[in-house]
Amino acid sequence: MALFPCSAVPALRFWGLRGARVWTRWPRITGGGWPISCSAGGSSDTGGGGHSEKKFLLQDIAELIKTRACQRVVVMVGAGISTPSGIPDFRSPGVGYYSILQQYKLPYPEAIFELSFFFHDPKPFFTFAKKLYPGNYRPNATHYFLRLLHEKGLLLRLYTQNIDGLERASGIPASKLVEAHGSLASATCTICRRPYPGEDFWADVMVDRVPRCPVCSGVTKPDIVFFGEPLPERFLLHLADFPMADLLLILGTSLEVEPFASLSDAVRSSVPRLLINRDLVGSLARNPRGRDVVQLGDVVHGVKRLVELLGWTDDIQDLIQRETGKQSPFSHPVLPSPSWHRLNLVEQHLQTEKLPFY
Ligand SMILES: [Zn+2]
Repeated sequence: MALFPCSAVPALRFWGLRGARVWTRWPRITGGGWPISCSAGGSSDTGGGGHSEKKFLLQDIAELIKTRACQRVVVMVGAGISTPSGIPDFRSPGVGYYSILQQYKLPYPEAIFELSFFFHDPKPFFTFAKKLYPGNYRPNATHYFLRLLHEKGLLLRLYTQNIDGLERASGIPASKLVEAHGSLASATCTICRRPYPGEDFWADVMVDRVPRCPVCSGVTKPDIVFFGEPLPERFLLHLADFPMADLLLILGTSLEVEPFASLSDAVRSSVPRLLINRDLVGSLARNPRGRDVVQLGDVVHGVKRLVELLGWTDDIQDLIQRETGKQSPFSHPVLPSPSWHRLNLVEQHLQTEKLPFY
């Protein structure tokens, strides 16, 4: 439903932008140096099958997890895991964001996330940010599957491109997260660089006031990565995590944004990679390995199949019931909480374009 043909930079796909280009200049990483450590080689077999091995299947991935043959799981996620929570396509008409573009006469959608435009007029960004206020959206079954992975002691790290904070909201501890494009949970003064916790600026944002630093009156900006800004220092954790991983899960991402996308090549060549996504993407399409498994289609549906193979259905139902019964620290959820049993309804509607349950 994109309105601007291929003008979007995929760096914004975590908001649902649908572009086709990749960043021509990779973002700088705080601390310096190019961060990607690619494992050497790998099978060039296609379709996830090796020359001498039998084809690797979702069942095989489940067995590796169940038998704890794999227990250092690294996960990469993108916008595709948030859309079932109702986070809409940034540029779709009728969802509110497009009206921001018209209201503020933005030259193009990405201008909202460019520093030069932000300093010129920060109001469009904060109008946009207000819609992502914590509590407006709830984690869905995919987030809770990842939480379960953590609770079972299997999650080495979760790398997300999303800035909606739903991974945190699902209960995954910050130590297990790398929010590669930052988050709205904290902010920094753009003048004196004084850091602020989220609650200090949300009060202003929610009454349509541009949050300002009480010390120097500079505009405070949430700690998300704008175009040309360095990625958070925690992104450098990939240098240790990916070589150590014994299983890589890639969920709901187009693998178009660098340097994030290249992380999928940074696990050892013998390490199984599971992609659950609408489309076959990234290096799993270009340079597949013998132990790749690809589960195409609806992400929540794919995760549900994996959960069933793992025998975790009861566990995740209990977890979701526990979590959705909690009072949110933020007060006004506007969407219904997802329930695992809804997935059965999702299954019935997989043939349709829209899933009405989130
Ligand atoms: Zn300041």
